[in-house]
Amino acid sequence: MLKRSLIALAITSTLLVGCNEDDIVEVIKEVEVVKEVVKEIEVTPTPVTQVKNVILMIGDGMGAQQVGLLEEYARRAPNSTYNSMNNETALTRLGHAGQLGLSLNAPFGANGSLVVDSACSASQLATGVAAGSEMIGLDDKGNIVETILEKAKKAGKATGLVSDTRITHATPAAFASHQPHRSLEPAIAEELISTGMVDVMLSGGARVFLPSDIKTNDESRQLMADLGAPTSVYKKSKRSDERNLIIEAKEAYGYNLAFDGAQLDSISGEKILGLFANSGMADGIAYSACKADKSCSQPSLRDMTLKALEVLSQDEDGFFLMIEGGQIDWAGHVNDAGWMLHELLKFDEAVDAVYEWVKDRNDTLVVVTADHETGSFGFSYSRKDLPEGKFLDGDGMQSREYKPNFNFGSLNNLDRLHAQTGTFYDMMSQVNSDWDFSNTLGKEWADAVNAHSDFKISDQQGDAITEREANEYHVDGHKYLSATEFPKINDFKEFFVYGDELHANLIGRALSADQNVVWGTGTHTAAPVPVYVFGPQDITRQFSTMQHHVDIANKMMVALLAE
Ligand code: MG
Ligand code: ZN
Repeated sequence: MLKRSLIALAITSTLLVGCNEDDIVEVIKEVEVVKEVVKEIEVTPTPVTQVKNVILMIGDGMGAQQVGLLEEYARRAPNSTYNSMNNETALTRLGHAGQLGLSLNAPFGANGSLVVDSACSASQLATGVAAGSEMIGLDDKGNIVETILEKAKKAGKATGLVSDTRITHATPAAFASHQPHRSLEPAIAEELISTGMVDVMLSGGARVFLPSDIKTNDESRQLMADLGAPTSVYKKSKRSDERNLIIEAKEAYGYNLAFDGAQLDSISGEKILGLFANSGMADGIAYSACKADKSCSQPSLRDMTLKALEVLSQDEDGFFLMIEGGQIDWAGHVNDAGWMLHELLKFDEAVDAVYEWVKDRNDTLVVVTADHETGSFGFSYSRKDLPEGKFLDGDGMQSREYKPNFNFGSLNNLDRLHAQTGTFYDMMSQVNSDWDFSNTLGKEWADAVNAHSDFKISDQQGDAITEREANEYHVDGHKYLSATEFPKINDFKEFFVYGDELHANLIGRALSADQNVVWGTGTHTAAPVPVYVFGPQDITRQFSTMQHHVDIANKMMVALLAE
């Protein structure tokens, strides 16, 4: 329109000055100049550097290797649950519409280290400054630092935290509390409900909100029953005082409460506290099973995400929302590939909910990343079960048999991993419900593994899972290292740190050759993690690079808060 009226003006001025040839040449030149200016205006639209909303999704432990497992399953498992969806994950759709980058995630700064834990990583993602290991919402000198969530709240925006672990677990905690150590969950719970910073909190972890005597005090139990909480939610407490933070959240701080999926569905209001489990929420395998027979009582990560979006998007000033798929990491720690696949599927459902919500908007920045990689996971080729030779039609084969030297892994393994019906923790509970593994039999382990896994192990392989040895790294009073005995890991054993849980890692080893799966550690690795970004292009293209998590935090803050 602008262009046309300028040209019309130029022609009119030609007519006005008459038909003198010099005048006409002069006017034509002017028209050309006007055209150039117009062209410039047209090709450089005002950059969109601000968004109203930021949605940060963290797949805890979801390195490139884990994303690879999800993508290979979705695209190439013969019976992939994505077969009816074009074999496309929501992550792929988001990445296709947006940008992809990579991010280093180690503890930053001059006194940093090589490998990060979830608390430090979430603190760095939340604040944009270096944090110390296992700290919550503090910088590397121990100072309290305002997080992106807190800044958003102060700017008048709504805020939310969603996780399938516990709301007081390291990742969500680091966005809205400030504590010297991630283990201080009872204090984190007090901060979360009392500071007024978080409008919507949906997760597990009721045990640090409940009074210490919740198991035996009938009055306290009746209070929870009257609120509609299932008994599983208030089965025990991890507090050392008599405070009931759930009641406080409702009465002193105005939160509406939900304890199961049905309650979450029907709840309304601006402030919601949903605590759906005593500790961590349902694992991915249990979720896939209850979803299949429609028996889930807890909301899924996707359900919680949809509810958070519904509530937070009512705020005219916009919102900040962090959503965590937190158990990808838990599966990685115990080297359980089948469980990890189900966690990735659960997370991808939440990514789908977010992508469908944002895909036609230009006012929201979505960042999907991991805090770190867990387990040093990978498919790998082996010398076991070598392929049979066969003849191929191709004219380059020179009558030679097609017979690779090694076992490069069958695609059926993807379906067989998906077929796992219980986590390694479930298998451990089957061997001993009290988790006393001082004296177990190989056959007991084989029976438990074979009951839940499509990959079978022998009693002899079970024997290797029973083995224990003196803990040569014993430390008195240490949360994990005080044990005098540890399950016996035969290589890289210093990187397997969680005491009796390592029987699960030994299950992973027993299954590994048949699964074509290897694991390098029972902790985290420093691999750069993928970053998927969707939103206005002038913002998202900044993420299409090799960056560090503190950079991601700062880019998000600039986009959301013009800082
Ligand atoms: Mg986490
Ligand atoms: Zn971890």
